[in-house]
Amino acid sequence: MTELAAKYDVLVIGAGGAGMTAALQAEELGAQVAVLEKEDQVGGNTSRASSGMNAAETMVQLDHGVIDSMANFYWETMKGGGRLNDPQLLNFFVHHANLAIDWLTQHGMPLTGLTITGGMSRQRTHRPSSTAPVGGYLVKGLRQQLAEHGIPVFTKTKVTALSSKLVAGRHFVDGVTVQTAAGERQIQASVVVLATGGFGANAALISRLRPDLAGYATTNQEGAQGDGLKLGEMVGAASRDLSWIQVHPTVQQDGPHAYLIAEAVRGEGAILVNAAGRRFVNELTTRRVVSNAITALPEHSAYLIFDAGVRSRARAIDFYDQVGLVETAAKPGDLAKKIGLPAARVEKTVDHWNQQVAADRDQDFGRQSLAHALTQAPYYAIHVAPAVHYTMGGLHIDPQTRVLDANGNVIAGLLAAGEVTGGLHGNNRIGGNSIAETVVFGRQAGIQAVKDLRK
Ligand SMILES: Cc1cc2nc3c(=O)[nH]c(=O)nc-3n(C[C@H](O)[C@H](O)[C@H](O)COP(=O)(O)OP(=O)(O)OC[C@H]3O[C@@H](n4cnc5c(N)ncnc54)[C@H](O)[C@@H]3O)c2cc1C
Repeated sequence: MTELAAKYDVLVIGAGGAGMTAALQAEELGAQVAVLEKEDQVGGNTSRASSGMNAAETMVQLDHGVIDSMANFYWETMKGGGRLNDPQLLNFFVHHANLAIDWLTQHGMPLTGLTITGGMSRQRTHRPSSTAPVGGYLVKGLRQQLAEHGIPVFTKTKVTALSSKLVAGRHFVDGVTVQTAAGERQIQASVVVLATGGFGANAALISRLRPDLAGYATTNQEGAQGDGLKLGEMVGAASRDLSWIQVHPTVQQDGPHAYLIAEAVRGEGAILVNAAGRRFVNELTTRRVVSNAITALPEHSAYLIFDAGVRSRARAIDFYDQVGLVETAAKPGDLAKKIGLPAARVEKTVDHWNQQVAADRDQDFGRQSLAHALTQAPYYAIHVAPAVHYTMGGLHIDPQTRVLDANGNVIAGLLAAGEVTGGLHGNNRIGGNSIAETVVFGRQAGIQAVKDLRK
């Protein structure tokens, strides 16, 4: 077993999508790299990602006959984010997302399938051709690449502090303190990359920042505690937009665990109905609008209704069924009876929806993605309600992933990528943009780390 050395060129904190991408990119450019992960396994929230990864003007889109533009990708993300996105980060992001898809292909992780997420007008959410959840696929592929490149990953190794030299009042980061089963240790590094993810599982911090979200369930893994924010603070890093916390509209939370029901299920044709058996919202508008519409219902929850066609196009549903989240029946009316909704009304709702799909016009709520009618038995239902899902705020970075202090100065030796950073998504993240963020800015952190080493 590889032992933790006393010094590395680059230390990456966090073995999610952003961290593993940064490590691989830096090593390929010649750096000696190690990854430190506090949990007993790699993957973080990345391993839970289910729908896909957004990018525009890709070869994959052209292969599917989809004509897209980076300008639309930019403006739709900006609109979805309440026009509060950092324009520089967003510009870098949309212009590098297609390269990120190519980079994944080069590294044995092609994403040749396409779907659509809320707030986007085109099929630009790339996913495995099998339609399997994107997160597990990428985590497996990245972990394998790290092993092939001999990049050590130390699990159960929690970074508890950053060390730095103070020169003329400014921090120069030069290493970390880690806590392992063997005790505490200092490790030196020329560059430290914070890729510690968000704080969606830190209920105390969330209720302090957003009292209205106290008591909400979360879709996040336990490790999403916001450690990166505290580590950054120790060396003067500025944070931004911390109270912008995304609530995901479709989370099954009737049992002890909260399961996110992927946006791809709606993207592939599912509708949402209320307790009266009626549609009540454009299912594919932004998450904020759909969540608010569900919360505004007297029952504060809704049912996703879909058919065998949707299930065949979104394989994550097989998993939801395995863990008992899905109700099944031969006809929409029978399904309604099973879940306690008015049967005749649900039959009418599905018929009416199918007529609108045939006419290619949703007169009721203006949904634009009308590719699939719900006509293939059996029919399925999943009970959903909103839950905390994603933290848009985080450390302040520039497009090169350099962490900034409160005066906008670069903190030497410190980079950050992924959900630990803030600014890209404005006040509402578009589904599929976060996995893209981890690969785009993870790669950039690896490149910037080596650029800094070569200075
Ligand atoms: C259920 C679910 C579904 C999603 N689906 C999608 C989707 O389809 N498309 C999309 O774009 N986005 C999706 N997202 C969002 C996306 O998955 C995440 O935002 C993204 O993967 C975050 O990647 P990351 O590398 O920044 O952080 P993570 O993947 O969370 O990795 C951070 C890692 O850092 C480790 N860490 C934290 N603190 C320390 C420390 N002090 N020391 C050492 N290690 C530490 C954590 O344990 C973790 O392993 C989904 C999120 C969830 C929860």
